[in-house]
Amino acid sequence: MVLYIVLPCYNEEEVLPLTAAKLSEKLGLMIAGGKVSPESRMLFVDDGSSDNTWGILKELTDKSPLFTAIKLSRNKGHQNALIAGLFRAMEHCDAAISMDADLQDDINAIDECVEKYKEGCDIVYCVRKDRSSDTFFKRNTALAFYKLMRWFGVESVNNHADYRLMSRRAIEALNNYKEVNLFLRGIIPLIGYKHDYVYYNRNERAAGKSKYPLKKMLSFAVDGITSFSISPLKFISRLGLFVALLSILGIAYALFSKLFSDDTVAGWTAIVASIWLLGGIQLLCLGIVGEYIGKIYSEVKERPRYIISEEIGIESDKRVKY
Ligand code: UDP
Ligand code: MG
Repeated sequence: MVLYIVLPCYNEEEVLPLTAAKLSEKLGLMIAGGKVSPESRMLFVDDGSSDNTWGILKELTDKSPLFTAIKLSRNKGHQNALIAGLFRAMEHCDAAISMDADLQDDINAIDECVEKYKEGCDIVYCVRKDRSSDTFFKRNTALAFYKLMRWFGVESVNNHADYRLMSRRAIEALNNYKEVNLFLRGIIPLIGYKHDYVYYNRNERAAGKSKYPLKKMLSFAVDGITSFSISPLKFISRLGLFVALLSILGIAYALFSKLFSDDTVAGWTAIVASIWLLGGIQLLCLGIVGEYIGKIYSEVKERPRYIISEEIGIESDKRVKY
């Protein structure tokens, strides 16, 4: 089988030489051992880096045919870089494994993935055994995120990031999901097909800094929820109904006490409090509706998710038209 390892890289000049060395050794061994065919490759996707990432990739591709690389026209984000690589790899491979370029994920899980593929799995999710190498903050925010996702009814695999094997036909199926707001972890379980899990330990970043600061993580989480679940919208209508019923009760009570008792004091506090409360709820609801409208807006434009500006090492003549 022809295996492609797809690695999105954004400003990874510090860690790339290390990653390339380790992975090429791994892939070399697998080819020598007859586990994968000699046409197998590593495909680096330069996600519009502003440092010397592309320079390093050029050197690597000159040195060994095992390395191939594509460059996106600008920074498009991890998810887009990933599918750019997967769709490009799809034209040449039987299966592709996606993983981060910082080698946080144990590359020895690749063997097991390939075995599972040979047993007939189309998708193999690599799941972290524990998160002890993460900071306290990241560990707990990630946990809260998975809980929230489940609560909103989004199906995703716990403790699985974007380290997974996909067969060619699974990637072809993925190609039919045309949404611009990408949250791969939610889409891939929707594809179906036979799948399995591989468990591995995650290390700390070998070099360089995380490209996922809190701000990006939060917007990723909001994206994940609003792309897969309309339960926040349902929640709004239920909340609206509840508040409306409550206000009918309130009006009835006010009328009742006005008509039948003498001690009706002008309830300034109650009025101010309810104005604030209702104002807040309305703003929240408008915000949630706005999120979805924003999403519809970006989907209807159908802008391309990425544009490839350069390629090295991949033969274009083998390209299949889609
Ligand atoms: N990445 C990317 N584009 C971006 C941000 C990140 O291609 O805009 C890549 C990055 O080079 C790395 C992977 O996505 O290979 C995961 O990023 P990182 O390791 O910084 O995230 P963390 O592991 O800290 O969640
Ligand atoms: Mg990382």
